[in-house]
Amino acid sequence: MASTGKNVPFLHNNAYVNGKWVTALSGKTYEVVNPANGQVLGQVPDMDQSDVKAAVEVAHRTFQTWKNTTPKERCVILKKWYDLCLKYKKDLATLLTLENGKPLAESEGELTYGSGFLEWFGEECRRTYGDVVPSATPSKRTLVIQQPIGVAGMITPWNFPNAMVTRKAGAAIAAGCTVVLRPAEDTPYSALALCQLAEEAGLPSGVLNVVTSDRSNAGPIGKELCENPLVSKISFTGSTVVGKILLSQSASTVKKVSLELGGNAPFIVFDSADLDKAVSGLLSCKFRNAGQTCVCANRVLVQDGIYDKFIQALGKAITAQLKTGDGLQPGVTQGPLINSRALEKVEGLVKDAVSAGATVVVGGNRDAKGGNFYQPTLLSNVTTEMRVVKEEIFGPVAAVIRFKTEEEALGIANNTTAGLAAYFFTSDIGQAWRVSEQLQYGLVGVNEGILSAVESTFGGWKESGLGREGGKYGLNEYLEYKNICYGGI
Ligand code: ADP
Repeated sequence: MASTGKNVPFLHNNAYVNGKWVTALSGKTYEVVNPANGQVLGQVPDMDQSDVKAAVEVAHRTFQTWKNTTPKERCVILKKWYDLCLKYKKDLATLLTLENGKPLAESEGELTYGSGFLEWFGEECRRTYGDVVPSATPSKRTLVIQQPIGVAGMITPWNFPNAMVTRKAGAAIAAGCTVVLRPAEDTPYSALALCQLAEEAGLPSGVLNVVTSDRSNAGPIGKELCENPLVSKISFTGSTVVGKILLSQSASTVKKVSLELGGNAPFIVFDSADLDKAVSGLLSCKFRNAGQTCVCANRVLVQDGIYDKFIQALGKAITAQLKTGDGLQPGVTQGPLINSRALEKVEGLVKDAVSAGATVVVGGNRDAKGGNFYQPTLLSNVTTEMRVVKEEIFGPVAAVIRFKTEEEALGIANNTTAGLAAYFFTSDIGQAWRVSEQLQYGLVGVNEGILSAVESTFGGWKESGLGREGGKYGLNEYLEYKNICYGGI
């Protein structure tokens, strides 16, 4: 079984600019490691501002022709790209697990989901209709058309190394934009593999450019993308802290900005909930990707009447169903955390909660496997003052708070500056409506723990972001409206 990068299909150790596999202008590289075992997968270019500036110029030049292609032409390429991603799904999923650590089945799931954006946006761009607006003046006629915005600068995270690239770049390219994308330093290979398949699908040189860098160059590269006047759009998925930096940097050139930032998802279990469904909903919502998604349950709120039964059933399910290990091993459901920084953060949050009175029901420590592995953990007797519910855990830790009334649960759920995803389980249909409407979140799961879909919208309220990805809404982020007024009629 492959655990290093040698002879791994689709593993490229160069960045991709103007249709060529390139090194950094400085010649520098950095190492990418497999988080499951610390082994080096390869070295990719450690690019800086000057590389990005050159890539932006390429993308800007290419935009002058790409913007004139028809939606049908773009659709044909995107669908071919989609077909190739599915054809090589197993290889791409293996590469994804090697760099990210998530179990192979989850990587395959990500490939299905991620590839779907290429197909979806390829089809959807053929429906970028405008309007003919009834005129207020007899001698004038007014219409509104949509046109691609220009070069899109993108910064993507490590937790979905494939799907965050396709969700952004698929939309931009379908809209007629060109792209300069910097993948997360931990997971550049899935983005680079997508470049190979885009080229095979017939995407012209310069439409999709991927620049790689280590973390120390992330800031300068982000600044260049935000401040370069040749870039018209910024799309970022990552932490709220970095999102705010990018938003303020983009002010200097008044760029259109899309941000998918951190969440602090409440997962509410009401007394009337189906216990088994609530437990399995939480298992998939909380422990997917070892808890490292921005829509993972972060605060589990359980009503008094079902609390003890829920804790018992959840503890049993965690012990029986979750298995940590190398994501390439059969049966593994929990990979490692992405790096030691992430591990230390999760460990610190659990220690803080326990010292403040939380009870460890299951787990609570680093895994005996060592490395970046943390035990799937269940904490009960958690209170709203603890850091574990105020901060985004991004790890396999379910922190459970007890509540008495619906009003109290909603008060706790909405008492946060985040507003990405929320979930609740109930059998009371009136409550289902009331709570859905009152949750201040962009995504709500009712008796459901997994809610993302290519066909629908994804995005957060409050400090969880700006703009929407996916669905019919995702293309708009890369389009500008133009009002055209014909006079003298
Ligand atoms: P995480 O802590 O989960 O890595 P970040 O928001 O820090 O979340 O990282 C998300 C992405 O943003 C990564 O690709 C990272 O390298 C990049 N990044 C980090 N800091 C900056 C910055 N100042 N400007 C631009 N990108 C950044």
